[in-house]
Amino acid sequence: MSKHHQVLVIGGGTAGIMVASMMKKKNPKVAIGLMEPSEKHFYQPIWTLVGANDFDYDKSMRPMASIMPKGVTWIKDYAEKFDPKANKVTSREGNEYTYDYLVVAPGLKIAPDLVEGLAEAMDKGVVCSNYTDPKHTWEVLKNFKGGTALFTQPATPIKCGGAPQKIMYLADDHFNKIGVRNKTDIIFAMPGNVIFGVKPVAKTLMEVIDRKDINIRFYHKLVKVDAEKQIAWYEIVKEAISDGCVVVKKEEGDIVDKDIQYNYKDAKVTEEEGRIGIHFDMMHLAPPQQAPDFIRNSPLVTEAGWLSVDSGTLQHTEFSNIFGLGDVADLPTAKTGAAIRKQVPVVVGNILHLIENDSLASKTYNGYSSCPLVTGYGKMVLAEFDYSKSFTPDPKLKQLLISDSSKEHWRLYMLKKYMLPYLYWNKMMKGIEV
Ligand SMILES: Cc1cc2nc3c(=O)[nH]c(=O)nc-3n(C[C@H](O)[C@H](O)[C@H](O)COP(=O)(O)OP(=O)(O)OC[C@H]3O[C@@H](n4cnc5c(N)ncnc54)[C@H](O)[C@@H]3O)c2cc1C
Repeated sequence: MSKHHQVLVIGGGTAGIMVASMMKKKNPKVAIGLMEPSEKHFYQPIWTLVGANDFDYDKSMRPMASIMPKGVTWIKDYAEKFDPKANKVTSREGNEYTYDYLVVAPGLKIAPDLVEGLAEAMDKGVVCSNYTDPKHTWEVLKNFKGGTALFTQPATPIKCGGAPQKIMYLADDHFNKIGVRNKTDIIFAMPGNVIFGVKPVAKTLMEVIDRKDINIRFYHKLVKVDAEKQIAWYEIVKEAISDGCVVVKKEEGDIVDKDIQYNYKDAKVTEEEGRIGIHFDMMHLAPPQQAPDFIRNSPLVTEAGWLSVDSGTLQHTEFSNIFGLGDVADLPTAKTGAAIRKQVPVVVGNILHLIENDSLASKTYNGYSSCPLVTGYGKMVLAEFDYSKSFTPDPKLKQLLISDSSKEHWRLYMLKKYMLPYLYWNKMMKGIEV
């Protein structure tokens, strides 16, 4: 009998747990160590509903111990240093771990320091974010008295690209309900020039934007937050590729910078040194995000600092016994749990095939990702797509009597609120392909 191969997994998030449990299921003889310092595991996608008071935060968490797959050795420590030539990882406590195969899946780091003043604004609670504290988002929405409600996202890659706008649509519903919407301007300021990269979904979202009377400001790169004066400062960066989705409705005279706005609203703006400062009464944002420091400082990354892997095989571009997936990976698709669902079988298949046959398996990852775009309480659009950004809806949706998931549907909202969390805890975390 050949020796028992050793696989070391870094990170016990969506990707790490699913990889470890699927691998254990498929080949119980493989010895798996999983390095993860946290005692808690969160189902982050539901934080969108937590921020809108439609889901209980405590139910988004399970103790790490309860989902650690049986037979996997949990190493409760931080990975700190890679030595890929010696097949070795050093932990924060100074222990060294060797491996035959390494799976790198520590997710990403929320990096408010990349925007001047943002860390302070977040600490002081002047801005809120579902990415860091969805319960605080709800406090802010609940207590809002009207004025300018600014929703925004950074110029870095972020996980779940749709999350910054989902909470805006829910907020609009809530503001209507508590009677402050008529004294509120909702502004969505974003660095790109399309509301969403998948065409049929973008079309529906623009109809939602019209219905909800939201002002979009394109090409806005957030560079500074003034917590004291409640101003978000932007540089206008117009080099993004045009996708033909920008339409301006109002008369020319009404609009300051009409080619970068949709559905102009006359909110208070200050211009200074080429920057535009939007004065806000409440602000929700996705903070800037980057790969964790120990990844960025490792020999495993691309120039942009993300884990360098082949987009089809998910094998490291230089070290053939290293694989990477999830938010940390440099892949030209959206960083989501849904993407991980399709990445895990590829990584597990490849490592087992290497162990058993000394070659990669034939199955590759096609860039599948999906974004459940909640457009209000009880309303959702489901964007599913691949590397080509084509709309690729799952045929199984027909069984749920959803004929066109690019259109809003309450059944899709039910999927988000009930079915997806169930699938996450009972299928994905158990290593079952879904
Ligand atoms: C507000 C919000 C809404 C979202 N909505 C959706 C959605 O609707 N649909 C969807 O599919 N996805 C959504 N996502 C994204 C999804 O949650 C992530 O893409 C997914 O969880 C990423 O999984 P991961 O394993 O790469 O990282 P994570 O799940 O973040 O896990 C990373 C793990 O690595 C550990 N770690 C960190 N550093 C180290 C270290 N040095 N050593 C060892 N371990 C380490 C961490 O403790 C953590 O447990 C959303 C996310 C947010 C925040």
